[in-house]
Amino acid sequence: MEPEDAAKKPPINSGPSSAPFELPTTHKVCPDCARLVEAPGITDPRDPLRPVEEFFEIKAKRYTDEKRYSAYCKPHQRKRNNDYRKQARRDNPPDEEARAPRPGAGRVRRAHRVRAAA
Ligand SMILES: [Zn+2]
Repeated sequence: MEPEDAAKKPPINSGPSSAPFELPTTHKVCPDCARLVEAPGITDPRDPLRPVEEFFEIKAKRYTDEKRYSAYCKPHQRKRNNDYRKQARRDNPPDEEARAPRPGAGRVRRAHRVRAAA
């Protein structure tokens, strides 16, 4: 192509209307599904592109409709949360002090019950 021809081409329209993320989200890729990570509730290797109904909705003010979807599908997100909690317990086992109720916790509960009965 001649440089002269290239100069005559109209500029590529890259306005906001062409942004794909403005389209309503219907599907989302779960990275763990793509890696074939096992999780309770997942029996077969499956398409990592999942409908958003299979992701957790998370309230997020700065997102469209003030919500976003979890990074992983529900089974994988649950598994990750459980693994995280298990690891946290291993790293930091609960001792007597951590298990004891916080001072004033019982008092707050009683006060609430009285208000509810009134
Ligand atoms: Zn998944």
